Amino acid sequence: MVLSLGCSEQISQLILSLEEVATVEQDARQLDQGTCNIPASYQPDPDHLEHSPMKYLRVNVHFMNSLDSANNYQGSKARAFAKELIEAANFYLGKNHKMALPVGNETPVLPTRYRYRITSSRGYEKQNGIYCHYDDQLFSFVTKGRARNTYNRDVIKRFGIGLDSIINVFIMPHHPDSVKSRSYKVTEAGVALGSGVKITGLFETGKPASAYRGLVNHEIGHVLGLRHTWSSNDGCADTPKHPNCWNTTDEPPCDSLASNNVMDYNAHQFAYSPCQIGKVHANISRESGRARKLVVPNWCNLDEKKTIYVTDSVTWSGAKDLEGNLVIEDGGYLKVNCRLSIPKDGFISVAPQGTLELFKARIHNACGDQWQGIRVNKRGKTEGNVINLAGNKIENVPILPPSDNRNTGS
Ligand SMILES: [Zn+2]
Repeated sequence: MVLSLGCSEQISQLILSLEEVATVEQDARQLDQGTCNIPASYQPDPDHLEHSPMKYLRVNVHFMNSLDSANNYQGSKARAFAKELIEAANFYLGKNHKMALPVGNETPVLPTRYRYRITSSRGYEKQNGIYCHYDDQLFSFVTKGRARNTYNRDVIKRFGIGLDSIINVFIMPHHPDSVKSRSYKVTEAGVALGSGVKITGLFETGKPASAYRGLVNHEIGHVLGLRHTWSSNDGCADTPKHPNCWNTTDEPPCDSLASNNVMDYNAHQFAYSPCQIGKVHANISRESGRARKLVVPNWCNLDEKKTIYVTDSVTWSGAKDLEGNLVIEDGGYLKVNCRLSIPKDGFISVAPQGTLELFKARIHNACGDQWQGIRVNKRGKTEGNVINLAGNKIENVPILPPSDNRNTGS
């Protein structure tokens, strides 16, 4: 198969099958292994942000209320509150802050590269993913005492919508009986249970919705696989343990050891460490994981505007779900060491002086559709270089007869 790219440059092109790109054989054990499973492989690269396409998580918002409708926002107030809450949470996802701890750290501030999108599901389109429910048994969140229901999932099971693909955020009041008790503290609190999130204290305080963006980002952080950082090992070296101060005070230890990390309990909750961001994207990239199902799969279909042009030396040691074609330009050198999804009908193109190095790569379309394959371009005697080291798989491409394919002309 020949695709001419214009006579003036005398470039010809062929599409390779994996067998044809086997130019180097190397012992797989000599090379690094296991990078696909570590958060560091998924941290966005500030020099090539487009290599980590933005991920959009579906969310919906439920306002739980008593039958007399006295205990939560409803109607247009509920809709405005939900929109403001998610907008504020998104704003802070887009405005990551420098970590406060450890003291004197030089931890980089990376973009999170994920956002929420309020989503309705089939049959609920007119409601825009914001729902009000009235149920005297299930409306409240009790954080203390005999009636404590923090970990109870009944409200999620009864009113959840699209739990396999949408993060369901339940805004629940404290129970009016609890509130009457002097010993019961009406505070903001939350819990993540699977893809459901229960949060409380929002209606009672009368504060603006944006005041709770940290609570929402914290609980959704749990849904995406993040853990608290202050007391135990959260799997990240850049989130040290600390005394979990709410804010900076004049007294030790909170004079110097107050955290601002989203996964702690503090007044800020606006810093995500590189490892935490990497973890979220590692979980989204895991094909069998829960987090992936919550993401709008923009990687299925080709968006040519999202084509990635590699012009320098880059290594992709974590999985990637691309939304456009992948073009390795002259002088570009791309190493792929993990899963790489190319959108339907998309292609990989290697310029005559470009190099694509594959080691333990699996190149496919993550939605089970076909992509076009690897196009190698030739100028005179110079041909794009595809190095097939070991353990590679290419899937979801048309099967080409090798002899016809090789007949390129010039
Ligand atoms: Zn938590």
